Amino acid sequence: MWDFSTDPGFQAELDWAGEFVREEIEPLDLLFPGNDEPYDRAGRVYREAVRPLQEQVKARGLWAAHLPPSLGGMGMGQVQLALLNEILGRSSWAPMVFGTQAPDSGNAEILAHYANEEQRRTFLEPLLDGRIVSTFAMTEPSGGADPGGFTCRAVRDGDEWVIDGEKWFASNYPHAAFVIAMVVTDPDVPVQRGASMFIIPQGTPGMEMVRGTGLGNEKLGEGAHGYLRFTGCRVPAENLLGDPGSAFAIAQTRLGGGRLHHAMRSVGLGKRALEMTTERIASRTTRGGRLSDQQSVRQLLADTWIQLEQFRLQVLHAAWQVDRSARTGDRGHARSARLHISAVKAATPKTLVDIVYRAMHVHGALGVSNELPLTRMWNAGPVLGIADGPTEVHKDVVAKLLLADAEPAEDRLFGSEHIPTRLAAARVKYAELLAGETVVAR
Ligand SMILES: Cc1cc2nc3c(=O)[nH]c(=O)nc-3n(C[C@H](O)[C@H](O)[C@H](O)COP(=O)(O)OP(=O)(O)OC[C@H]3O[C@@H](n4cnc5c(N)ncnc54)[C@H](O)[C@@H]3O)c2cc1C
Repeated sequence: MWDFSTDPGFQAELDWAGEFVREEIEPLDLLFPGNDEPYDRAGRVYREAVRPLQEQVKARGLWAAHLPPSLGGMGMGQVQLALLNEILGRSSWAPMVFGTQAPDSGNAEILAHYANEEQRRTFLEPLLDGRIVSTFAMTEPSGGADPGGFTCRAVRDGDEWVIDGEKWFASNYPHAAFVIAMVVTDPDVPVQRGASMFIIPQGTPGMEMVRGTGLGNEKLGEGAHGYLRFTGCRVPAENLLGDPGSAFAIAQTRLGGGRLHHAMRSVGLGKRALEMTTERIASRTTRGGRLSDQQSVRQLLADTWIQLEQFRLQVLHAAWQVDRSARTGDRGHARSARLHISAVKAATPKTLVDIVYRAMHVHGALGVSNELPLTRMWNAGPVLGIADGPTEVHKDVVAKLLLADAEPAEDRLFGSEHIPTRLAAARVKYAELLAGETVVAR
């Protein structure tokens, strides 16, 4: 059954979240616009402003909604999560206030599955409560999209592993209490079977930050994405998560949901750009009329609405695919969910860039100035085309899954849609009907 409506009880929660984000959290975006600040647990802003807001979210029962109730979350399915993320996407502080910020959300899922009792107490519990933040380190400076090129190695030495190598763009490292790192432990097999996942507490000797890299709109040297170097860094054997060689399976659990969260947060940003576009063209006057009197400007607004609506439905459908796959455990459903997640991931940057660009354009100089949030919102598009894997890699997944069951045409020269061939078959099928008539079609 198809149903595009939202359960009234859940809609009430979304309405509460929408107002809470606008009234309580968006002002923080304005006061503290640095990408880094939401993660600084020692900071006054976190203690005095964010923590009390987090308590309100917890009291409302919307804290860490991506996690199961056994971990203090809501156990929401992906469709409900998507609808919540659409609201959180409006603000860069909101995911932090709601306990769903990356990479902590994914790291918590990994720890929930693989950590031992002590690690749960030391790392998972404070992470779930929002008292600490964490980092995920997989990408290396020599290449991220191709893990086959990873060279950061760990060698077993008695009860310890010794790590040497480098990692790159480990988000939030400067404030992180620990790192979850993917490291090659068996270089003799393909990396998909030869990499393992480790917990490395901040301050472990041999782990250092070469520098913090920022995004284009941040000051040089101030970014929160850590370029990490490991030199004879020793971690206890129990800090290995899961089995040796299982890092890829672990990473996949973590990345799938995150891609949908980012996509739906992009819908939230896109909606904001749509609202700004509509408001601007209804307000601005030119040549004695409103901007919206110009047909080309109305076309632009329609293009934005259509593109956003198509993408929103695509993301919700992908979320539904994931929920169905989790419910049925069916392998075909799981494969279909993978296809839809990669398709959504590939479509996200272009959708956001197009929509925000149109909003910038109708605002004229103001649109590209630092007095509106549009250039910042636009920057999220190219970033989302890289983070969690480049667009090309995801399109490749889509194509491979589509081709997996593809059969060559019986008629390899002209294919199965060749009109003369089909017409001949149709004439045979309806021979009686056609008997006695002059057939004119060729
Ligand atoms: C904001 C942000 C946060 C990030 N956070 C983290 C994090 O917390 N932890 C972490 O480990 N990493 C993180 N990353 C890194 C991210 O995962 C990598 O940047 C990404 O996997 C791409 O790797 P790369 O930058 O080395 O690009 P490359 O692998 O060098 O790819 C560059 C380009 O080459 C092309 N290309 C590459 N492979 C293919 C292919 N198979 N087919 C066709 N074209 C291809 C594409 O155009 C691609 O964009 C983050 C990145 C960003 C931007």
